[in-house]
Amino acid sequence: MPTYREAHRRSIEDPESFWGEQARRIHWETPFEQVLDRSNPPFARWFVGGKTNLCYNAIDRHLAARARQNALVYVSTETGIERRYTYAELHAEVNRMAAVMRSLGVTQGERVLIYLPMIPEALFAMLACARLGAIHSVVFGGFAAPSLAARIDDATPVLIVTADAGARAGRVIDYTPLVDEALARATHKVPKVLLIDRQLAPERLQAPYLVAYEPLRERFFDAHVPCVWLESNQPSYVLYTSGTTGKPKGVQRDVGGYAVALAASMEHIFQGKPGDTMWTASDVGWVVGHSYIIYAPLIAGLTTVMYEGTPIRPDGGIWWRIIEQHRINLMFTAPTALRVLKKQDPKLMEQADLSSLRTLFLAGEPLDEPTAQWIQSALKKPVVDNYWQTETGWPMIAIPRGIEALSPKLGSPGVPSMGFALTVRNEATGEICAPGEKGVIALDYPLPPGCMQTVWGDDSRFIKTYWNSVPGQQLYSTFDWGVTDEDGYVSILGRTDDVINVAGHRLGTREIEEAISSHRAVAEVAVVGVADSVKGQVALAFVVLRDAQALDKAGAREALEAELARSVDAHLGAIARPARVHFLATLPKTRSGKLLRRAIAALAEGRDPGDLPMIEDAGALVQVKEALAR
Ligand code: AMP
Repeated sequence: MPTYREAHRRSIEDPESFWGEQARRIHWETPFEQVLDRSNPPFARWFVGGKTNLCYNAIDRHLAARARQNALVYVSTETGIERRYTYAELHAEVNRMAAVMRSLGVTQGERVLIYLPMIPEALFAMLACARLGAIHSVVFGGFAAPSLAARIDDATPVLIVTADAGARAGRVIDYTPLVDEALARATHKVPKVLLIDRQLAPERLQAPYLVAYEPLRERFFDAHVPCVWLESNQPSYVLYTSGTTGKPKGVQRDVGGYAVALAASMEHIFQGKPGDTMWTASDVGWVVGHSYIIYAPLIAGLTTVMYEGTPIRPDGGIWWRIIEQHRINLMFTAPTALRVLKKQDPKLMEQADLSSLRTLFLAGEPLDEPTAQWIQSALKKPVVDNYWQTETGWPMIAIPRGIEALSPKLGSPGVPSMGFALTVRNEATGEICAPGEKGVIALDYPLPPGCMQTVWGDDSRFIKTYWNSVPGQQLYSTFDWGVTDEDGYVSILGRTDDVINVAGHRLGTREIEEAISSHRAVAEVAVVGVADSVKGQVALAFVVLRDAQALDKAGAREALEAELARSVDAHLGAIARPARVHFLATLPKTRSGKLLRRAIAALAEGRDPGDLPMIEDAGALVQVKEALAR
């Protein structure tokens, strides 16, 4: 066995040989002719000429050996429903869904927008797209109609798959009115909407484009839909993520590179073996859900657990009981969930038999030291923090326990994963920082398999956004600050841009600002992220009103604050709602008009705002302090 250092060096110096070997982990219908095409940087093409299919690798390939093994265990503490699907049953369900989609005009290369809660049909729909060679674009169920409309217009789908409702913490959330509104707002006309009726909400969509799934499923009950073999570099999906502008980017992923990278990560990082049970408590609307609820565990022949519910309903012991009951071997979630669980009665955890659990994985936001220490000592199992982004598709920093069980260090997710030429760079010069020196976390060209290929429909935005931070150098910027230590462990020190991370959800402050500005009373707004003991960060909004006297009446402040929160709910969804809205007479800005978001955030966190550029209105920061104190 090579050491981590040897294996990593080889993956960087000779990616063709390293990834050529890793490619054997999946089925190729037609072998590839070239491992890596680097003729057009910053674009990289992996396994050129090879033909494969994600659905075949996730399901069909396992039928010979594990048709009767559970592929999917579904648990909803919202509805009390529990279902199990063997690989054979999953195969049948995905074929039905694929046949239904095909009957509705879905063909290779077309987009299907999936706007579903955590129900098995979300997984069937994604895999059915993969089977047909169609491109799925899953939109998180918490997004509101305007966000959905923007994604409809960008992805131009031929079909939307949705449900009557989602359920969260005992509340039913009607989806159909949201879809209806999004369709009315979008310029692109979607011919059909496939509706999964959970019978949670009265079916309100009466539109002619609506098609009920259940009767079609019956009609295609025995269907067999062949897998469409795709060239490795054809797109498999588009997943939207927030950035510095108000317009989300469609992260486009390939087929072959993604399958190989996930299969390799299951061995090198997650150590998931065929027959193991993995529970990733995330949502299919996020990248962690795509990679580690759906594709990676199934490609590697595991049983994946899909969960609809919160960590504390019906009580704070539910997650530990699920681990016990379903003999979970690998668990993956975000630190926010642990911070919530940490507040529960410790007996709830002690009472559960957690002997099946081998490792707990955490990602999506910084793992703070108190939470890390608590879970380590309470669980007495390895806890593996891992750092990545929607763009990379799989962890770029972790402890590669499947290669070498390096000791974890508190405060760092670990070391660069195979194929990631990851360094911390001086933001101005692009030079590699010495250990201990803060810089921007960057990746050398080419990005390894599984990472984003481009921004959907906009190659120049891909280049401009990610590859232009240091002129003259082919460097991908993660937009995260970091620092390495003498042993090469990397610590993550927060974003370099205006993106915030609330409970593991990535939100652009610009998007929230736009939602608030759309209210007629608002003249100007600044949204910043500030530290929060449970959610990691929360958004605070600082608003300048068109008419400051509007606040004079009793109760006006509270009423307006609630209205602005509702405006964010309506534009983006409740996940983006600011924790507080503060009203100011002016916002602190530089003389050139740049908002001093970092200074505001520092004040809100009780820190010294540090060196400040010349401020347009010297009183503005004092106002921020006063507003915070109110
Ligand atoms: P997303 O694309 O939504 O997965 O968000 C990615 C961002 O979340 C990264 O750029 C980081 O800012 C943050 N992030 C993800 N994982 C970690 C981690 N393990 N530690 C610190 N920050 C993280």
